[in-house]
Order: sequence, then structure tokens, then C-alpha cells
Amino acid sequence: MNASRTRHDESCRLLGGGPVNVPGYVAEAVASCAMGHRDPSCRSLIRDVSDRLRAIAGVSADDFAVIPIAGSGTAANEMVLSSTVRPGDCVLVLGNGEFGYRLQGLSTYYNRTELLDFGWGGTIDLLQVEEAITRLRPSLVAVVQHETSTGLLNPVVEIGQICASHGSRLFVDTVSSMGADPINLAICNATFATTSSGKSLGAMPGVALVLARRSAMSDVVRIPRRGHYLNLSIAYESIEATGLTSNTPAVQLLAGLDAALRGIEAEGLDNRVQAIRLRTDYLRETLLAKGWELYFPDAVRSYAGTCAKLPEGMSFADFGAALLRHRFTVHAGKGPFADRMFQVCCTVGVDMALIDEFCETVTRIREEASPGGQADAIAAV
Ligand SMILES: *Cc1c(COP(=O)(O)O)cnc(C)c1O
Repeated sequence: MNASRTRHDESCRLLGGGPVNVPGYVAEAVASCAMGHRDPSCRSLIRDVSDRLRAIAGVSADDFAVIPIAGSGTAANEMVLSSTVRPGDCVLVLGNGEFGYRLQGLSTYYNRTELLDFGWGGTIDLLQVEEAITRLRPSLVAVVQHETSTGLLNPVVEIGQICASHGSRLFVDTVSSMGADPINLAICNATFATTSSGKSLGAMPGVALVLARRSAMSDVVRIPRRGHYLNLSIAYESIEATGLTSNTPAVQLLAGLDAALRGIEAEGLDNRVQAIRLRTDYLRETLLAKGWELYFPDAVRSYAGTCAKLPEGMSFADFGAALLRHRFTVHAGKGPFADRMFQVCCTVGVDMALIDEFCETVTRIREEASPGGQADAIAAV
């Protein structure tokens, strides 16, 4: 059996936002990493990843600890929501799409949870946020920065100001945005933030990360513990005491993440964000020029993803399958946008030529599926 061949033939251009096509130097770092998870070299690897992540998040090692865990982004979210709220205290979740609602679902397992619901694609109204915080006195307010399911960017700085003035802690899910949309946890007064290796940071999935404000952790570690593997206090105490994780980390994937973060550092974060914006603007303009419609044209949109309307009468299953035949992967719309939307991301592993090829491919798929089908498409040439 030729083991190296087995999956290669199915390799795809990944435009779904995560997993992404990682740069060669990331794959190389994963493949060549050989260290024990209790070795001093692993300690320095975790420290390097933590320092580079803090630089992207605009915070210092004095103020924020970084806690890595083997898992996808949800592991980090569950860590925060299961470990940072006293029994009986309230968590207020601000929801305007799939990932906000998932925070609510997760929190409900552990906490008295209230959802302030702005509806799919709705704008977070700061007056309503302030009213709810005044009424509910939540110890934690949870919100997604980039609501991946709609492409909207939520006003985390303003939400953080409201939280600070009412003594509530802010938890920001930056799983899809960190590395693509600017975030500064100091400016937005965040106490906790989460991210993961496999989206805009441009590494392989499998490392979830919590950034936790040290000044809050002295209190958080005294909260009764409701689990082990995803308990933030246990993980934090291990990192603090030894510089290592309490259980086996995804060592090789951490090495890949470190390489990806070095890549961001070498390029310069601002340059990278700018390059993502140029590619995303180009994608949006090209799609519009080819007659595609985009969702939420007037909203504050993230550059981490673009939401376009599926061709009339076409299911995502058919659209996605047709794209796969051209070796492209994108994501489906969720909730009310199922079978109405596809999402495409130009964050990592994408250049202008690939964007051109993608836009031509989806347009051909639409034309072939339109009434009259292939005949129309050929006549249009
Ligand atoms: C992807 C994502 C998550 C985590 O999802 P996983 O399936 O665990 O990777 C959480 N929040 C947001 C905003 C995301 O985009």
C-alpha cells in the first residue's frame, strides 16, 4: 500500500475558512517536529506560541495567560463557559447567528444563561445590551467577534465598554477572526478570548486556545470545578507552574501553529490584514460583476468571510458537489440560510488567480444549472 498516496488525490482548494490550505512551511514544521511533551523544547514552543498570539491580540504576558488545549475552537469556548462563572451567576450571551447561539447552547450546560437575541444577521443594539446588563447583572457577557455564519463583525469594543462600566466580564469568541480582523483585547476590555489554529491563523486544526486575563484568574481558580479536561483553572495552574499543559498537547500541531504565527510576524500583522482585505474585496467585486448577490451589503462585514446567495432553486448539496468536482470546498449557509447561501474565505492559501478560477467556476455551475442549462451557457460564450 502506498500510504502517502491515499488522500492526496482528493486534495482540495479549501475556501471554507477552516481547515485552510496551509503554507508549505507550516506543513514542514508539523512533519519535522519531534519532541516529547514534557521536554524543555515543548515548554519553549508553548511559550513562543503564547507570545506570538498575545502580540496578535494586542496584550502582554503580564496581563494575559494563554492556555492551549488539544481540540477545535469549541473546546476553548467550553473551557471558558464551564469554568469562569460561579454557580448561580448569570451568563448573558449576545446572539445574532449560529456561533452566538452555540455559545448559548454550551453555556446552558453549565450556567444560568440568558440570550439577548438580535436574530440571524441582526445588528447588536448597544442600548439593549446595556439595558440587559443593568437588569440581569451577568458575571459574564459572551459574544462572537466575527459571526462566521453571516460574516458580520460585532462591536466588541463598545460592548466591552458597557461591560466594564457595569462590572461584568467580557468573553469574546475570536475563533474565526483572529489573524484576519483586527482585535485588541486590552481596548475591548475583554477578560477571556478564544481562538483556534485552523482558521484565520493559518495552521492545521487541532489546537484551541484561551486567552485569560491574569487579574481575573486569581478569582476564577477558586470557583468549584465541574470537570477536568476542559477546566480552565486546572489548565491555567499547569501552565503557570510548569509552562506545560496538564495533558498531552497536540505537539506537532503546536509546532505548525508556531510556524504560522512566525509567518504572520514576518509579514507584519497589518500587512497581512491588508492583503486579506485586498483579496476579499477582489472576490466580492468579481462575484458582483458576474451577477452574484452578496448578503448584508450595508452591514459591518468581516473580511474573514464572504456570504453569497446560492443560485435560485439550487440546493447547497448540489452546488457543493459541483464545486468539489472542480476541487473547491466552501461552506454552506446555516439556520435560515441553509440552501440559500454559500460562504467563501480568502484568508489563507489563496491568491488572485485562484479567486478568478473560483469565480469562473461558480458562474459556470450556475449557468449550467439555469433553465435551458448548458445551451444557455454555451450561447453566452
Ligand atoms: C469555527 C468556529 C467555532 C468553533 O467551531 P469548531 O467546529 O469547534 O471548530 C467557534 N466560533 C466561531 C465563531 C467559529 O467560526
